[in-house]
Amino acid sequence: MDLMYTSTRSADIKVTASQAILKGLSPDGGLFVPEQFPTLEVSLPELAGMSYQETAYAVMKQFLTDYTEEELKECIRRAYDDKFDTEEIAPLTEAGGVHYLELFHGATIAFKDMALSILPYLMTTAAKKNHETREIVILTATSGDTGKAALAGFADVPGTRIIVFYPKNGVSPVQEKQMVTQKGANTCVIGIHGNFDDAQTGVKRLFSDKALEAELSSEGFCFSSANSINIGRLVPQIVYYVYAYGRLLSQGTLSVGDPMNVVVPTGNFGNILAAFYAKNMGLPIGKLICASNENKVLYDFFQTGVYDRNRDFILTSSPSMDILISSNLERLIYHACGKDAARNAALMRELTQKGRYEVTGDMAAAMCDFAGGYATEEQTAAEIRRVYEQCGYVLDTHTAVASSVYHTGFAEKSNGVPAVIASTASPYKFARSVMSAIDSRYQSMDDFALIDELHKIAGTKIPRAIEEIRTAPVLHDTVIEKEEMEAAVKRFLLR
Ligand SMILES: *Cc1c(COP(=O)(O)O)cnc(C)c1O
Repeated sequence: MDLMYTSTRSADIKVTASQAILKGLSPDGGLFVPEQFPTLEVSLPELAGMSYQETAYAVMKQFLTDYTEEELKECIRRAYDDKFDTEEIAPLTEAGGVHYLELFHGATIAFKDMALSILPYLMTTAAKKNHETREIVILTATSGDTGKAALAGFADVPGTRIIVFYPKNGVSPVQEKQMVTQKGANTCVIGIHGNFDDAQTGVKRLFSDKALEAELSSEGFCFSSANSINIGRLVPQIVYYVYAYGRLLSQGTLSVGDPMNVVVPTGNFGNILAAFYAKNMGLPIGKLICASNENKVLYDFFQTGVYDRNRDFILTSSPSMDILISSNLERLIYHACGKDAARNAALMRELTQKGRYEVTGDMAAAMCDFAGGYATEEQTAAEIRRVYEQCGYVLDTHTAVASSVYHTGFAEKSNGVPAVIASTASPYKFARSVMSAIDSRYQSMDDFALIDELHKIAGTKIPRAIEEIRTAPVLHDTVIEKEEMEAAVKRFLLR
């Protein structure tokens, strides 16, 4: 029997995994969730000896049950290959008593590659399985990293087009250069005057616009999403937590059944939700520590039970976490209210109408494995400097938020449970902020000079993703108002 997916907002929606991936978002505006959590079939001792690709198959086959073994293994083989600069795919590095799970060894040097390397294969396989003949248009809002990773994944994939909206003044210079130099006739990159939430809200609105859907369908197009609202993003992200546990077992850091805590620098709540799914599959995870930057809406939520986005949006040195509406929290809320779609839908309506909602005591109790913390800009910079000076290891700004949160609020109380900190980006992607944190004398250098300096002090290879953009020509220069997103989509598709 196939595992079916339902919507967080209406109990009567039921689709297969491949249909959920193809659609991206449920037609009622909700997110697709599995009807139950499958359990991990491989035993924990077996994990210790498994490669990343083997672990990926063991995890993903439990969720994507309508894919055949051949289909899934082929998707995995094509995704996790030498696009990654290490055979381990997601290596664990110990520094200063914690384990950094390096999720940035893919083509665009951020953790989004972990899922977006495989999503195009899962999506095109899903299209075949469901006899979808229309061209799939991937609509994406990005806070900086999803955009490039999705572009790299979907560029020149037959039967697909991809449109990325990013906040014009809300991404790092390297992030922007990576996106606007993207090749591929099926790609479109557009800056908007607004922040990430504006981009994400605009994309969600396009998804639920029935008139637009009908018009584009008659022209042979259908929309899907590469954002972490797509379950096809979430499932591949469960894999690396399971893999990390296997590595800690094989190193002897853990004995079978011992818990590990995870610390995740969080924006849209996709990465940490994947850890929660891993835990529900039976992986021994203790605490799920949700680390925020100064946009600490999630910290306040875990502290008080009130989610309140009515506050100023702050641009920080960790732009991929500059988010006030964390889409994937909806999946946790749904779970916490006992899979009551109507109750979840009511809370989400409050969020849209008033910008806030409050959970009940029983819901808070269902989320008790989560803890929140946040780091200010000063704390983040100090953490980069501290880890570099004490260990010679250079963190990017996002990872530093998580590392700071862990060391200031949780390390002492950990009772010896090892911590795995999700290391979500290469420091090369945020070289200016990283180098300024280490020494203020770097502030006057240009972006590429800083990258060369970082190479000298860290002793790590400059990633291909950086070398590529040094001289690449700008191919996308459209910037629009946030009200013009629909017109921009039509211009690209119907030209
Ligand atoms: C996307 C991103 C995050 C936030 O991840 P979510 O799944 O949105 O919570 C953190 N760090 C980096 C570098 C990212 O690209």
